[in-house]
Amino acid sequence: MATGELVAAIAMSEPGAGSDLQRINTRATLEGEFWRINGAKTFITNGMHANLVCVAVKTGTEVGAKGISLLMLETDGAQGFRRGPLLDKLGQKTLDTCELFFDGVQVPANNLLGAEEGKGFIQLMQQLPRERILVAVGAVAAARRAVDDTLAYVRERQVFGRTLLSMQNTRFKLAECETQARVAQAFVDDCIVRLAKGELDSATAAMAKWWTTDMCCRVIDECLQLHGGYGFMNEYPIARQYADMRVTRILGGANEVMKELIARTMEKR
Ligand SMILES: Cc1cc2nc3c(=O)[nH]c(=O)nc-3n(C[C@H](O)[C@H](O)[C@H](O)COP(=O)(O)OP(=O)(O)OC[C@H]3O[C@@H](n4cnc5c(N)ncnc54)[C@H](O)[C@@H]3O)c2cc1C
Repeated sequence: MATGELVAAIAMSEPGAGSDLQRINTRATLEGEFWRINGAKTFITNGMHANLVCVAVKTGTEVGAKGISLLMLETDGAQGFRRGPLLDKLGQKTLDTCELFFDGVQVPANNLLGAEEGKGFIQLMQQLPRERILVAVGAVAAARRAVDDTLAYVRERQVFGRTLLSMQNTRFKLAECETQARVAQAFVDDCIVRLAKGELDSATAAMAKWWTTDMCCRVIDECLQLHGGYGFMNEYPIARQYADMRVTRILGGANEVMKELIARTMEKR
């Protein structure tokens, strides 16, 4: 993976199960030395060119999380494995996102991730705080970039015979955006320290994910407004940021799911 010979993807989401992963329908049955996978996944990042796919499948008959396992599928030459066309997205156009289809695909029995079948859901949950911090880091960086680009723009742009930066509304909006980006960065920095120490709990990671992605979309929207019509032109980075960052409130766990997760830990207090 480090040299680029292997490109990986993680295939959890399905047409009928995104937030509620426990309801996945893709199933694998053990047939001697092989697992046989049947089902379909959607919205898979790297789906188009991945040749190592971690597939979340139902291997047990238990309802809910218990029957889920993770299988590592090497796609080169895999019979019955098919990729759908590139999905047409609002933003993040450089991500190759597509559907994956499994029609009796065979995977060696020992490509089960971990020692035991039925632990897939727990394995995913253990790694999700890290993914959520990655999303939060991206959101803070995007907000930072939006504020910096906008500051440069309003310094130059003349309206009614003065710079846009000299107007009180611009100054207040930029001050608000700068404050939000800085506050978010302090929180995410703290999360990174906790993650490095192995002390980041899932509720704190969920807070970082929902709050920074909401903040970043708010900040980008305000910054786009300050660009006027130019902000709506794809030629300007702020337009692309507006389209690209919207999905961060949905992927990696929808922000509503993050709040549910936080509330659940509060109930136990
Ligand atoms: C660009 C992109 C890349 C992606 N990459 C991957 C990938 O690599 N691998 C992968 O497996 N998946 C990937 N996904 C899928 C992503 O994880 C799902 O889209 C996400 O989990 C939401 O699932 P869903 O789209 O089925 O929405 P649904 O589950 O149908 O939810 C729809 C909306 O309902 C609301 N909602 C959901 N649950 C609750 C709740 N408990 N309480 C209140 N409101 C709720 C939220 O507003 C949510 O946005 C990607 C998606 C996109 C768009």
